[in-house]
Amino acid sequence: ENDATVSIIVVGASGDLAKKKIFPALFALFYEDCLPEHFTVYGYARSKMTDAEFRNMVSETLTCRIDKRVNCVEKMDQFLTRCFYHSGQYDSMQSFVELDKKMKHHEDGRFSNRLFYLSIPPNIFIDAVRCASMSASSGNGWTRVIVEKPFGRDSESSAALTKSLKLYLEEDQIFRIDHYLGKELVENLSVLRFSNLIFEPLWSRQYIRNVQMIFSEDFGTEGHGGYFDNYGIIRDIMQNHLLQILALFAMETPVSLDAEDIRNEKVKVLRSMRPLTLDDVVIGQYKSHTKGGMSFPAYTDDKTVPKGSLTPTFAAAALFIDNSRWDGVPFLMKAGKALHNKKAEIRVQFRHVPGNLYNRNLGTDLDRATNELVIRVQPDEAIYLKINNKVPGLGMRLDRSKLNLHYAARYSKEIPDAYERLLLDAIGGERRLFIRSDELDAAWTLFTPLLKELEEKKITPECYPYGSRGPVGAHYLAARYNVRWGDLGADQ
Ligand code: NAP
Repeated sequence: ENDATVSIIVVGASGDLAKKKIFPALFALFYEDCLPEHFTVYGYARSKMTDAEFRNMVSETLTCRIDKRVNCVEKMDQFLTRCFYHSGQYDSMQSFVELDKKMKHHEDGRFSNRLFYLSIPPNIFIDAVRCASMSASSGNGWTRVIVEKPFGRDSESSAALTKSLKLYLEEDQIFRIDHYLGKELVENLSVLRFSNLIFEPLWSRQYIRNVQMIFSEDFGTEGHGGYFDNYGIIRDIMQNHLLQILALFAMETPVSLDAEDIRNEKVKVLRSMRPLTLDDVVIGQYKSHTKGGMSFPAYTDDKTVPKGSLTPTFAAAALFIDNSRWDGVPFLMKAGKALHNKKAEIRVQFRHVPGNLYNRNLGTDLDRATNELVIRVQPDEAIYLKINNKVPGLGMRLDRSKLNLHYAARYSKEIPDAYERLLLDAIGGERRLFIRSDELDAAWTLFTPLLKELEEKKITPECYPYGSRGPVGAHYLAARYNVRWGDLGADQ
């Protein structure tokens, strides 16, 4: 089996995601000698291209971290000789039969494994899966399919998608990707918790006041709002990326690091949560704003967005896990576009020190003086713990300092892109970082009633200026649970 071939078929190879993420990740893996010896990459899409044109496209879109390294050009040339292109419709059995022939030719009678990456719009997922599985599955090895979000837009459509996928594939052939799970600091979350004595004992309602999951982008849809408008920020970021982080954060210790053990624990957390109601959320939409002579558009100025759209570009939500570990602890999420900065982070705010001897040295804002653990997922990865510390000198004044693990300073190694890790895992059959269908169902169960209510009642989002810190409603929501957003303080 060491001699097995692996064919990686990027369906939708002419598209944005393929160019931006998939080919650069595949090349980075090749550069690092992580791909199996006999691998071949196939681009599949309707666009007409020769192999040479395809190779040219792949080499031009090389924007990955390897870009300026030694031997890069030489390695790229080697990589490109393994790349082929096949043009065809996504629902054409005939065309997938031809692709199969091409693959067989390169496989040269060896044991063959095939990984299909569906990088196409969701309305054609099933056509492509039907054709690929019926006409281009491996005859003697594994066939796996990576599926990209969106996995439906509510419980029903997601279940229907899963049902259709399962007409052609077994659950263990389906790799639902959530690229947040491939991020270095998200993977590290479990390491931090389970391999350091000092964190896990504190990881409960006894010591933790609240947990915040924050995602912000400093740009809007900028002419690409067509897809987004049908989904909105809750589906695009919260129901998947932030909820996945929450599940990993809050799960019980898994029996082992095996994929099924970890995913079992994640499902348990999701199923212990209360479905959200309108009362638990604040939604917002950015409006135009002029600053320093520059003017920034409103969401509805985007030509691809329907006039009068009520789609939220910002949301804040309070979630609760009704189990013994987390009873009463608010998990707050916040996600938005066109905000003042770009980042993703997890913030854990700890309780007050009971009977703190130093209360009077801490100043008036005792809330801000509690410990806070921050895991900055992106950009500029870091983990820091805010502590109270004595300002050196003869007096007794305390200030807030950080024990700071700043990745760029600590590790000289670059951090691989999430897609590299996920592709490598899919090739290796490691399912830990992919979403199982019962996890997906549980995630939709939490958000579907809310999403329906927002749409049925046509709830108007609160406006916030492009480039601002979001709608004030988010502060009121947090305040209701005695929480202050950690990312907005002076000493964040
Ligand atoms: P895309 O560029 O819109 O589409 C990929 C390819 O699919 C296109 O090059 C096109 O190829 C074909 N295609 C597009 N619209 C089609 C239609 N209506 N009917 C048939 N074929 C069509 O999409 P993408 O941005 O690369 O994203 C691919 C998938 O990843 C989507 O499911 C998306 O939701 C998901 N995703 C994307 C990103 C991202 O950053 N872009 C992030 C997360 C998830 P041909 O015309 O050559 O056939």
